[in-house]
Amino acid sequence: MTDTVKCPGCLGRRRRADYLCNTCWRTLPASTRGRLARHDARAFQRLRELHSALAARTPLAIIRVSP
Ligand SMILES: [Zn+2]
Repeated sequence: MTDTVKCPGCLGRRRRADYLCNTCWRTLPASTRGRLARHDARAFQRLRELHSALAARTPLAIIRVSP
């Protein structure tokens, strides 16, 4: 059984290592995906921005995070 947890963007499941399930991830703007995929000093800040946007029910297609 794959190690999955609830996806924060929908009612589906995601892999524990990923931020979102594949469907939600592909719905994000390409620039947002590129930024979230970088694991630098600001990665945690971007993840927080993603989660607060999701908590505010911002549509995935228009969620943006810091460069
Ligand atoms: Zn999802």
